[in-house]
Amino acid sequence: MNFEFTEEQELLRKTVREFVDKEIMPYMTKWDREGKFDPNIYKRLRDLGLMGVCIPETYGGAGMDYNSLAIVCEELERGDTAFRTAVSVHTGLNSMTLLQWGTEGQKQKYLKPQAEGEKLGAFGLTEPGAGSDVVALQTTAVKDGDFYRLNGQKTWISLCDVADHFIVFAYTGDRSEKHRGISAFIVERTWDGFSSKAIKGKHGIRSGNTGELFFDDVKVPKENLLGKEGEGFKIAMSALDNGRFTVAAGAVGQIMACLEASVKYCEERKTFGKEIGKHQLVQQMIAKMEAGLQMSRLLVYRAGELKNQGKRNTRETSLAKWQACDFANKSADDAVQIHGAYGYSDEYPVERYLRNSKAPVIYEGTREIHTIMQAEYVLGYRKDKPLNRMLPAWESDD
Ligand SMILES: Cc1cc2nc3c(=O)[nH]c(=O)nc-3n(C[C@H](O)[C@H](O)[C@H](O)COP(=O)(O)OP(=O)(O)OC[C@H]3O[C@@H](n4cnc5c(N)ncnc54)[C@H](O)[C@@H]3O)c2cc1C
Repeated sequence: MNFEFTEEQELLRKTVREFVDKEIMPYMTKWDREGKFDPNIYKRLRDLGLMGVCIPETYGGAGMDYNSLAIVCEELERGDTAFRTAVSVHTGLNSMTLLQWGTEGQKQKYLKPQAEGEKLGAFGLTEPGAGSDVVALQTTAVKDGDFYRLNGQKTWISLCDVADHFIVFAYTGDRSEKHRGISAFIVERTWDGFSSKAIKGKHGIRSGNTGELFFDDVKVPKENLLGKEGEGFKIAMSALDNGRFTVAAGAVGQIMACLEASVKYCEERKTFGKEIGKHQLVQQMIAKMEAGLQMSRLLVYRAGELKNQGKRNTRETSLAKWQACDFANKSADDAVQIHGAYGYSDEYPVERYLRNSKAPVIYEGTREIHTIMQAEYVLGYRKDKPLNRMLPAWESDD
């Protein structure tokens, strides 16, 4: 066990932090109000090598370990959840899935430009009638010669209007086959029959793009089948192991931001003749944030270390995601409380933190789904075996 960061990781954290402080923080309230952010941010993320931090150099990435991805997510979410969500979806849910399940041809064609930051990837699993219950999907992909004809609709898809490539899940088999009837495909935005539409009026992550995808008889070449027919459910769940890891790491960053804002306000604001930080009930909220931060970090880095070793980590990642997101949501609530009425307006960032911290408790497995998973592991109702295709263990260049 090693609790030290490497010099390279420290430098990565410093780089992302400086970028966030300089190029995100000053504009964030404006972008959140306007419901968009400067699209040049994607170019900046690419220039900093952050779009493929844990993807091997052979495939255009920075070749760093999986905990380096956690560091990037922490620091980006300290700025705003929208930026961490972009990395979660692009790298965690899409690129890492291509790394794990893609053929060499798919990796060259899709993973490489994504890891280099030339193209953006996203992930389309959820549908209007299928969220936690993936088997309820309605989208179908019917084989027709060298193509599959894709028909259906996805909703709540992050980067819906900006991503170039999507991993999309659809029934190729009969719906009565349930999990075994689902397959995964790589779909390009430019293909005939593909369209997207943003959802307006979101509670949080307002500057981020989220919405619907529509497939109207989209012809998907058969070489864009990811894995084998019928492996889609397994691929979706393994993708979530990586996406959830990034969400958990982001939640750590959200707690850091809550603590920073709260400590600063504790020093500024006085009541009853003393700084509010001197009141024990305020201290209790600060102490709980600190405890949540430290516990979440340990859970995240443990999951990351298992990924580095190429070991199955569904259980550990689920626990990290569930706990870190709950701590972040509670920390944001307490950060608003500490700010009193001022915390209720966007003069201070904490109301944005509270709104932003809710979605991660819902997406990539709701709080309830993770609670059930953890209980089932303990009770012995759920057991994991290594998959036929594991995420590759991290190999150091040294
Ligand atoms: C901002 C945002 C971005 C998103 N981005 C993406 C994306 O990029 N790609 C994508 O595919 N999806 C995305 N999603 C969708 C997200 O993954 C789903 O919302 C999530 O899986 C929950 O599904 P649902 O909303 O349909 O809720 P439901 O599954 O309908 O659940 C409703 C409620 O019932 C509870 N519930 C359900 N089943 C059980 C059970 N068995 N036991 C106990 N309680 C249960 C849930 O916990 C929840 O409280 C995003 C969502 C949001 C909010």
